[in-house]
Amino acid sequence: MFGVPHTLFAIPARAAAKPLALLSLLALLGACSKAPESTSPTTQGAGGVTAGHGVSDERLVKAGSEPDVWLGHGRTYDEQRYSPLKQIDAANVGRLGLAWSYRLPTRRGTEATPLVVDGVLYTTGPWSIVYAMNAASGELLWTYDPKVPTEWARYACCDVVNRGVAAWGDKIFVATLDGRLVALDASTGEMRWSTQTTDPERPYTITGAPRVVKGKVIIGNGGAELGVRGYVSAYDADSGQQAWRFYTVPGDPSLPFESEVLQGAADTWKGGEWWKIGGGGTVWDSMAYDPELDLLYVGVGNGSPWSRHIRSPGGGDNLFLSSIVALKPDTGAYVWHYQTTPGDSWDYTATQHMILTDLEIGGQLRKVIMQAPKNGFFYVLDRQTGELISASNFVQTTWASHIDMETGRPVETPGARFADAPSFALPSPFGGHNWHPMSYSPDTGLVYIPAQEFPFVYGKDETFKYAPGYWNLGVDGSLSATPEDPEVAKQLAAMIKGRIIAWNPVTQKEAFHVDHPGPWNGGLLTTGGNLLFQGTPGGQFSAYRADNGERLWEFSAQTGIVAAPITYRVDGVQYVAVMAGWGGTFPLFFGSAYPPSNEPVNELLVFKLDGDAILAPPVRLEQVLPEPPEQKVDAEILARGKKDYHLRCAMCHGESAVGGGILPDLRYMNSQTHQDFYAIVLGGARSKSGMPPFGQILSAEEVDGIHAYIIDRAQNAWAQQATVGE
Ligand code: CA
Repeated sequence: MFGVPHTLFAIPARAAAKPLALLSLLALLGACSKAPESTSPTTQGAGGVTAGHGVSDERLVKAGSEPDVWLGHGRTYDEQRYSPLKQIDAANVGRLGLAWSYRLPTRRGTEATPLVVDGVLYTTGPWSIVYAMNAASGELLWTYDPKVPTEWARYACCDVVNRGVAAWGDKIFVATLDGRLVALDASTGEMRWSTQTTDPERPYTITGAPRVVKGKVIIGNGGAELGVRGYVSAYDADSGQQAWRFYTVPGDPSLPFESEVLQGAADTWKGGEWWKIGGGGTVWDSMAYDPELDLLYVGVGNGSPWSRHIRSPGGGDNLFLSSIVALKPDTGAYVWHYQTTPGDSWDYTATQHMILTDLEIGGQLRKVIMQAPKNGFFYVLDRQTGELISASNFVQTTWASHIDMETGRPVETPGARFADAPSFALPSPFGGHNWHPMSYSPDTGLVYIPAQEFPFVYGKDETFKYAPGYWNLGVDGSLSATPEDPEVAKQLAAMIKGRIIAWNPVTQKEAFHVDHPGPWNGGLLTTGGNLLFQGTPGGQFSAYRADNGERLWEFSAQTGIVAAPITYRVDGVQYVAVMAGWGGTFPLFFGSAYPPSNEPVNELLVFKLDGDAILAPPVRLEQVLPEPPEQKVDAEILARGKKDYHLRCAMCHGESAVGGGILPDLRYMNSQTHQDFYAIVLGGARSKSGMPPFGQILSAEEVDGIHAYIIDRAQNAWAQQATVGE
């Protein structure tokens, strides 16, 4: 949104950014979403080092005492993403070099945190594909492709990404984009069991990593934007049998509630028919576990639709949206909750990374859980009781002035709920912090936050009508399109920021920060070597001093990095690994921020001291903007087209019709695609590639308007190109 001058993000690797040819984009889309030859899941194995091991409950509980491995998503159950390894340290990190790399045969977003178990590295790529490799040499041991139907991509709000696997016993667990939970033999990649965890008739997706607690595999799901009811489930790791399910929002109140807790939650929903759309509250990413208290913490997402005016017109907190919920992992029984954003209307999820530690606060040692959710406040809670200990904003928050310590609730600013007029707000639906993992270093006592500032205009979609299987926001996205006035656009662009914030959770104050050229930077890792690692969308993978943020080392990855790094040790050698690969929700909607210059590559990069491997060079994109057709409609139809485009198309093809290199940039349509426009948009001619047919919800007149708006944007780009050429 708010088209950003490219100079704001002038990063060497992408400085030569040029427009993409539609043909190369279509080729690219085809390459990544070609229908599989066989529809049954496949495993391919190779010889060499054998995978397979025993990850016991005891090993998971004591994972902190095994520095060589990375056994769980956040390394340890407390999800600190800190490793005590210090062979690589602030003094010698300048010698860090590439040990090996592995290029994934797909070009969609890469968000996984790898696991390393006894010399074997397990990771995932787009389309929920699993890879097992020799962690020292990079030799591929096996891959598993769950053969997610490519047309399911239409339900993926945020690209066909996957954030990783879980390990337990002799199995590896992956959850697939189309809602399956699959157990694989860790040695061979053969499927042991598979179970559908979602209703295939609803637009559920899974992108998160499972966790395993005491022999139960815990998994949530996503899809709130499209219209689903959120829940988290547990499955027996041996048999795949469902053990329990906890719904995060109440269902149809005319039917019996699943529990008394949900009956109570239903009192906080007033009016409306939220259950038809689903209500949201998806548990799509973060979890943590405290073995001593035996509590499982899950982060709950935003409402469906976003706008409470539609979802719950009588008001109310709408439990358990945007909450941290503590559950008993054996039964799924509710223990406590803390709601960060009561009555969410802004997509302010509480699914962001949660970290457990013990902090001395006011002379007392407190067992805390910490989170920096999208809403911009950093929370420190007592993890036994859910009591709010402290909260302070880590980025600018226009929607609420502060958190009232008496009530534990945010104090909202007038007009923030855009009831009568649109509201200009920080943070945006992208959040002050999104899914990108934080890190907590017990050495420095600081929490490192991949933070961002990003304005957004929230306004009601007065025309909202529930459209099953399509985006259902209830918010008018066209209000956040790039302003036509270049001066206003420039002012807004200056407000868009990204940085690492080193946060002191005891004093609730920033210790220091590291500024980046823009937002949507990668996840974080800290180590015993006083190091902090992070990648950026510009493709720089860097090491900083953890105690003061000084940049010590960097590597050009040739593609954007959003995932979090890990570190591990094999035969006495310490490695640092990160999944590089641009994608996810941000480039889909806000491609103008980081226009691609290369064909996207997905690559696992692994470093060690004195590593001397060399990355294969990137492929430069050919760029030709076809001359756009003439405009045949009047200003009124064009204005309506702009609105409909931002309601129906922008979340995948980019605000203001500027693509981010993942899916087709529609300004580059050739004459044949212009001719086929109705067949594609209304008839579903490209549904196999994930492009939904809109015949049910858009009229031919509305498609005319959308087409006209795209032509207008293409003409605009054509004119700009001519100006540059003069
Ligand atoms: Ca959301």
